[in-house]
Amino acid sequence: MAKVLVIGCGGVASVAIRKCCMHSDVFTELCIASRTLSKCDALKAKLTGKTKTKITTAQVDADKPEEVIALIQKVKPDLVMNIALPYQDLAIMDACLACGVNYLDTANYEPENTDDPAWRETYEKRCREEGFSAYFDYTWQWAYNDKYKKAGLTALLGSGFDPGVTQVFCAYAQKHLFDTIETIDILDCNGGDHGYPFATNFNPEINLREVSAPGSYWENGKWVEVPAMSIRRTYHFDGVGEKDMYLLHHEEIESLAKNIKGVKRIRFFMTFGQSYLTHMKCLENVGMLSTTPVEFEGKEIVPIQFLKALLPDPASLGPRTVGKTNIGCIFTGVKDGKRKTAYIYNVCDHQECYREVESQAISYTTGVPAMIGAMMLVTGKWNKKGVYTPEEFDPDPFMQALNENGLPWKVVEDPALVE
Ligand code: NDP
Repeated sequence: MAKVLVIGCGGVASVAIRKCCMHSDVFTELCIASRTLSKCDALKAKLTGKTKTKITTAQVDADKPEEVIALIQKVKPDLVMNIALPYQDLAIMDACLACGVNYLDTANYEPENTDDPAWRETYEKRCREEGFSAYFDYTWQWAYNDKYKKAGLTALLGSGFDPGVTQVFCAYAQKHLFDTIETIDILDCNGGDHGYPFATNFNPEINLREVSAPGSYWENGKWVEVPAMSIRRTYHFDGVGEKDMYLLHHEEIESLAKNIKGVKRIRFFMTFGQSYLTHMKCLENVGMLSTTPVEFEGKEIVPIQFLKALLPDPASLGPRTVGKTNIGCIFTGVKDGKRKTAYIYNVCDHQECYREVESQAISYTTGVPAMIGAMMLVTGKWNKKGVYTPEEFDPDPFMQALNENGLPWKVVEDPALVE
């Protein structure tokens, strides 16, 4: 039925591709394209004979719109799934627009070079006007809305778990559980243990940029920014147990503040172990998280990219990670004139994911919703022209697909609330 071009072949993309191949009736053809062709070929070899989906591979540098355009013209896909890095979002959105193809990604745009003066000027203006200073924000991609609308195309932004499923949970709560949602706490708990003193569960560069940024939350119509890791809470997670979690800035807060009418506060918390935090602080203190190039023995290197080369590849953590993740949203609000609270969450087991798709649960919980988002678009279940985030569509078919594709969810009434 649909031909899809997947750009990227890392931890998350590998899961999304394997899951697409389990739905050969929907995804009849896939082209896997990435910077390193050998990774695409290796995945194709693993899948050949196990799926009816026809798979091809290609090499592409997605930083260059002209290369993506040439590839789209050759492959002629119905949809491009961008599962490379947030750095490539705008180049791929431009290429999709030029070729008249729908677009999907799992993380919002951030620039690779945060020292670029043109970007910095816009960024600093946004920091002053909006009040949060994370490098990533939706404004760059929302700016494509009119162009996508005019071209009759859809761009689905952030179809991973968080962002992604967390926003679908919000749309579901809004549709079925509440008349007014007053507060949303998004809780992302990884109770997994990979046995290394320090490793990240997805791309190290993107992950470390995210968690070392100041935290922020939305309250009464504005952003409140706090120093990184300065708000800590403890929560007892179903399937995992008690964990410390820290308030972070996260991209879905920005879109939910716009789309969940009447919401008064939105916060995002992620669990971290002490070892992770100690390593991160040390790396930050010695300058290893810096994105500014330094000269070393006559060669220019970017410290955080060098660090990435030293750390374990997240895609290699699968066989050694044990434990569970629990990600979801706690809501407070009003239904039929009465105050109520509810918690929607998914619990996912690292080893079960590995048995199914040879990956740990972080890539799994991101790759499965990427596949479901693609399924919503190519089957026409989600069909609005323009640039959208997942809470702007009907949550029901997506929620059903989560249950059918390895990410079952629960609704719990009267959960313990986060102070
Ligand atoms: P990886 O680093 O494992 O994979 C990234 C892939 O993109 C690699 O195959 C890489 O190629 C490829 N790539 C990088 N640059 C280019 C380029 N210029 N042109 C073509 N291909 C390129 O990352 P993950 O799989 O961990 O993460 C993928 C995305 O998912 C990221 O955007 C991340 O932020 C997002 N994410 C979203 C989550 C959510 O819940 N929404 C959670 C976790 C991640 P190469 O092999 O050559 O390096």
